[in-house]
Amino acid sequence: MDIFFDLRQKMVAEQIEARGIRDPRVLEAMRQVPRHRFVNSENWDHAYADGPLPTGFGQTISQPYIVALMTSLLHLQGSEKVLEIGTGSGYQAAILALLAREVFTVELYPELAERAEEVLRELGASNVRVIVADGSGGLPDLAPFQGILTTAAAPQVPLPLLEQLDLHGRLVIPVGDSQGQDLQVWEREPESGYELHQIAPVAFVPLRGTYGWKESEWKPR
Ligand code: SAH
Repeated sequence: MDIFFDLRQKMVAEQIEARGIRDPRVLEAMRQVPRHRFVNSENWDHAYADGPLPTGFGQTISQPYIVALMTSLLHLQGSEKVLEIGTGSGYQAAILALLAREVFTVELYPELAERAEEVLRELGASNVRVIVADGSGGLPDLAPFQGILTTAAAPQVPLPLLEQLDLHGRLVIPVGDSQGQDLQVWEREPESGYELHQIAPVAFVPLRGTYGWKESEWKPR
């Protein structure tokens, strides 16, 4: 137990359960993972507040509710191999680690990846592997995945990510530009079909790399 235990229970009750997230496993993971460990100590006062926080390099750790929402959309049971694109602080990966069998998380910035890896190791998340690479086209060598989570905004859904989904696997991804994105879920159906659900308007930092936004195309709000 840590000094933020009570704040974390309150965060889950008021920000996450109150907004309709019901999956008991997701709620439990959100109660367990010490979010403050993934932000600088000068931000510890805000670690359980209802908003995003800076992780360095102009990147952000998503609002707790958005982390819970995206996680719950994967419908994880515990046996899955999951890919996360955009490790950032490692917080989302730590949540996934409690809910899936194996987590591969990809980050473009080596400095962010290193710090995330260190915290994840300290917290004993031994089923997470942090990889430094352009993850916008997924990790074809490790496919198929039963779940793929992209935590940066894509101009459109990258086809390689759809191809790397297992049958009935789900891809959760924000698609749109700097003015805002739609959170989408793509579920792989038999005979190479996909079912698309539009979930909610969201605001993420841009996905970079081959299937992401070019620097010149992303106009800051
Ligand atoms: N999931 C993170 C927050 C992600 S912010 C957390 O829990 O803290 C988005 C991250 O995506 C940033 O760290 C950014 O550097 C990374 N990113 C952007 N484009 C990427 C790409 N093509 N491949 C891998 N990581 C990328």
